Amino acid sequence: SSSPTVVTRFAPSPTGSLHIGGARTALFNYLYAKGRNGKFLIRVEDTDRERSTDEAVKAIFDGLSWLELFADEEPVFQFSRADRHREVVQTLLDSGHAYRDYTTAEETGRLRDEAKAERRSFESPWRDRVAAGLEAEQPFVVRFRRPLPGRVEVQDEVQGAVSWDNGDLDDLVLLRSDGAPTYNLAVVVDDHDMGVTHVIRGDDHLNNAARQSLIYDALGWPRPSFAHIPLIHGPDGAKLSKRHGAQAVHEYAEMGYLPEAMRNYLARLGWAHGDDELFSDEQAQEWFDLSGVGKAPARLDFDKLAHVNAHW
Ligand code: GLU
Repeated sequence: SSSPTVVTRFAPSPTGSLHIGGARTALFNYLYAKGRNGKFLIRVEDTDRERSTDEAVKAIFDGLSWLELFADEEPVFQFSRADRHREVVQTLLDSGHAYRDYTTAEETGRLRDEAKAERRSFESPWRDRVAAGLEAEQPFVVRFRRPLPGRVEVQDEVQGAVSWDNGDLDDLVLLRSDGAPTYNLAVVVDDHDMGVTHVIRGDDHLNNAARQSLIYDALGWPRPSFAHIPLIHGPDGAKLSKRHGAQAVHEYAEMGYLPEAMRNYLARLGWAHGDDELFSDEQAQEWFDLSGVGKAPARLDFDKLAHVNAHW
């Protein structure tokens, strides 16, 4: 059978329970795929071994199950793919798009401060140096060699065209000195290998889209479409915090809200379909489109949520 045209994914970091922002991101990815005969996938981004916990993995899956946001394939656990990530780093080293940086952490800190004081971006002295002989015995990190001079442009489905001067980014660490792959590299490799066509996530990741796009280009892999959705704010317009009330999805479940109502309400959070407020999941799937996602942060409105809940 031919591969589906649209593949989306929800990629939570298991460091806490599923919060309302994550649930909405998952829902948008789910609706976008389902409305297009596509696939919705889940990837647990557990590469940060210190912050990732089994309890958080369970809490996230419990929250997704309550909302009935089931993936079309077995979830992928990012940490289990570290060998594949290292293999791709080797490809980048071989093609000259990455280099070994033997600068000690201490020296890097010093050079960074110096660059900052002189208002220029930090460059590792190893960017243009060839490690001959002895250096190979020393610990090193692997850095991406971003094209300089240059610009990177991202056509974001929500934010429009956004571009960066490569000089303002830095040569990202791809592999730490202990051989652990870093976040941006892992995301690119996994999205590519999972066949992800649309990356829909919070706009706190917009800068990562620039870095990730450069990595896609260096590997000669087609970039996915990006859609960075504005975060959710409290009713007062301020960043969502505890004082605004419940943030974790399970708290809403405990308060007696119905999953159908939560889905209906979350679908409308930052996405509009005319004045329609109440709709079925089928309608949401049919109607959901990235062009209806606004650029301004969505605001939680508990009266509206109660109203939607009463309907269900
Ligand atoms: N794991 C990231 C997060 O939880 C999301 C990464 C992504 O969607 O690309 O913020």
